Amino acid sequence: MSPIELNKRQDTILQIVKENGPITGEQIAERLNLTRATLRPDLAILTMAGFLDARPRVGYFYSGKKTMATVTESMMNLKVKDFQSVPVVVAENMTVYDAICHMFLEDVGTLFVVDDHGFLQGVLSRKDLLRTSIGSQDLTKIPVHIIMTRMPNIVYCKKNDSLILAAKKLIERQVDSLPVINEKEEGIEIIGRLTKTNITKAFISLADTHDL
Ligand code: ADP
Repeated sequence: MSPIELNKRQDTILQIVKENGPITGEQIAERLNLTRATLRPDLAILTMAGFLDARPRVGYFYSGKKTMATVTESMMNLKVKDFQSVPVVVAENMTVYDAICHMFLEDVGTLFVVDDHGFLQGVLSRKDLLRTSIGSQDLTKIPVHIIMTRMPNIVYCKKNDSLILAAKKLIERQVDSLPVINEKEEGIEIIGRLTKTNITKAFISLADTHDL
């Protein structure tokens, strides 16, 4: 979808109608010190593009239609990199006990597990840790690599992916968080963390941007 570029006068007209609509073409022209005839092409463009609606004997009023198109368009433009959080990683040999402490201290719901080179090996969720805790094992003796979800089963995203694609992965795979990764020959580097909270923040930012 290519956005329609409005010129300065069309923007001004839109603003006038937003604030004063319904308003007649004549009244808009008066406010701009222009003739109705001069404005006709601008009003036609704004109406055709769906910015404005015109009702006979009532005048022009602002239509929400274009707003929806703009919201959709900006939604498609949201990128993972603009909303991702800092990843929290732990070593494969960290004990489950320490991982639980780490999760509390870092205030996150998912820890990423890395090898000695810092490359992604696994994911630990709250429930992975809870599940282990309700057993009778000594949590200070079990390394996290025993209980983590490991590669190649990890769902991830990349910084330039659209946020919508990442959101779909979160929902379809029923997980709370995706590592944002950079694939290197030597291994998978973790450069971010994308959670459902990030998606919710993006949702709010869309509403703010569009004054919804
Ligand atoms: P919780 O288990 O606390 O509800 P999740 O729904 O994120 O949190 O995790 C569910 C399961 O999926 C866990 O076993 C976890 O290890 C695994 N998991 C979490 N994130 C991912 C991911 N990005 N890719 C693959 N598996 C994951």
